[in-house]
Amino acid sequence: MITRLSQLFLRTLRDDPADAEVPSHKLLVRAGYVRRIAPGVYSWLPLGLRVLREVERVVREEMDAIGAQEISLPALLPRDPYETSNRWTEYGDGLFRLQDRKGNDYLLGPTHEEMFALTVKGEYNSYKDFPVTLYQVQTKYRDEERPRAGILRGREFVMKDSYSFDLTDEGLAASYQAHRDAYERILQRLGVSYVIVSATSGAMGGSASEEFLAESEVGEDTYVRCVESGYAANVEAVTTPAPAPIPFDGLPEAVVHETPDAPTIATLVHWANSAGVTLDGGRPVAAADTLKNIVVKTRRPGEEWELLGIGIPGDREVDDKRLEASLEPAEVELLTEADFAANPFLVKGYIGPKALLDNGVRYLVDPRVVDGTAWITGADAPGKHVVGLVAGRDFTPDGTIEAAEVRDGDPSPDGAGRLVAARGIEVGHVFQLGRKYTDAFEVNVLGENGKPVRPTMGSYGIGVSRLVAVIAEQQHDDKGLRWPAEVSPADVHLVIANKDDAAREGAEALAAQLDKAGLSVILDDRKASPGVKFKDSELLGVPLIVVVGRGYADGNVELRDRFTGESREVPAETALDEVL
Ligand code: ATP
Ligand code: MG
Ligand code: MG
Ligand code: MG
Repeated sequence: MITRLSQLFLRTLRDDPADAEVPSHKLLVRAGYVRRIAPGVYSWLPLGLRVLREVERVVREEMDAIGAQEISLPALLPRDPYETSNRWTEYGDGLFRLQDRKGNDYLLGPTHEEMFALTVKGEYNSYKDFPVTLYQVQTKYRDEERPRAGILRGREFVMKDSYSFDLTDEGLAASYQAHRDAYERILQRLGVSYVIVSATSGAMGGSASEEFLAESEVGEDTYVRCVESGYAANVEAVTTPAPAPIPFDGLPEAVVHETPDAPTIATLVHWANSAGVTLDGGRPVAAADTLKNIVVKTRRPGEEWELLGIGIPGDREVDDKRLEASLEPAEVELLTEADFAANPFLVKGYIGPKALLDNGVRYLVDPRVVDGTAWITGADAPGKHVVGLVAGRDFTPDGTIEAAEVRDGDPSPDGAGRLVAARGIEVGHVFQLGRKYTDAFEVNVLGENGKPVRPTMGSYGIGVSRLVAVIAEQQHDDKGLRWPAEVSPADVHLVIANKDDAAREGAEALAAQLDKAGLSVILDDRKASPGVKFKDSELLGVPLIVVVGRGYADGNVELRDRFTGESREVPAETALDEVL
């Protein structure tokens, strides 16, 4: 294909856009690849769209190679499934919500676990159908608090998301590994330098969730790496040992239950219901109450009331219809300042192992984390116990608490050496989800022995549009963009820098030859000065620039390597062979 710059819908800019801080953003705008429409919302112009499509192609090729099958789900989604999974509430302000003309609630999909679980449930019903992995390359919507750096953090962006469905944990581990390997191949083909870091403190095994971070100073993620052992983790996931628990004789055995989700009150109530505990309480929760300091009391049939736990779901307000529905048939009790003063068990604002210890609870029975939410139980006297929810990733099954802050030079948790801190941009995320969504949607299939089996899921995301910015970020120089051949908007940028008719004809002929050989060519046939053309060729970033200039009088053309800056003259007749 020959793309003539005299006709291409392209306007390059001499100056950096006023709102741009990071180089990739400045250059992608200046080179006419993208244009801003609203915060975090961008249009793709011809050359940008080509690069985006090339990234998509590489991603698709590697997904297809591991046997994943492409489908496409809508971005406009009904509220109901997200209500079932509780994410209508949990996603909070990050969700774009809208209503149709009849007043029904919809959302623009930020990620599609719900819909994929439902899609598989709708089609498959036997163990013979599994395993299966589905993916899509799709526009996602998230109302990011701080959209940033152009397409790097958009509110509308393109993600490849895939979901694996297996019947066994081993199957899930294999699907996870296949994705992890595919992501490595994708990033290598795209020329991205990256590190794989653990994204969780290891609640479900060391590889339950990992992030692919592109190394970059402008990244928003900080990770630490131990040079000696290769240990690498997002700082949010680094753990250090907690103080040893103090044994307390005579403690009744406390039950620890897994909660499938983040600590909202709805989760707590959902857990209690599924564990067969009756909930009761005092005042109903109103919309005006922020969901802080909620205490749930429990009573097993025929037994006394006891304190079950404290849910600290953050400051988010929830509309009360939602809340009432999610609480059905349970109620919760909201505590006052006085209640907190009177009861040493009630740790205001936060309940975690340290908070419990600080508040006189002397024994931690069984900490456990599920999806970043820990259930812990403790007691300060025989016969009493308290169960708490820990928000965030601050507690792990092996009894460790998140460090206050991990710093460059801290000892590595594996004891192998010191940690080095650096910054990165999250480009991919692989996650062994387990049965969180298949439980929520009761996805059952007929097992080999005739009994129902519940599939276990993995979810895997890669930021397709973000990768365009990441490549630009890692590869540019002060003159402009530099695209690796795999994603470049063209193979050759051919500049006509000589006004002679013979040179022009020679350039046209060379372009035709290159095109015939299967290469795509950007041909700068504009009536502009050579200086302007050279500048644009550097700004646009095609890796190979061919100049038909003064040397053409002697039968030569110039080949310029956009990466090394090297340039050499070759006879025009051999130019094609040199390029191939
Ligand atoms: P981040 O930590 O950067 O906010 P995330 O952890 O919220 O990303 P995931 O939900 O894991 O993102 O989504 C999978 C991938 O989608 C990410 O690894 C990233 O590459 C991409 N992505 C997420 N949010 C955005 C965004 N706002 N703009 C562009 N790409 C995004
Ligand atoms: Mg995010
Ligand atoms: Mg992230
Ligand atoms: Mg992520």
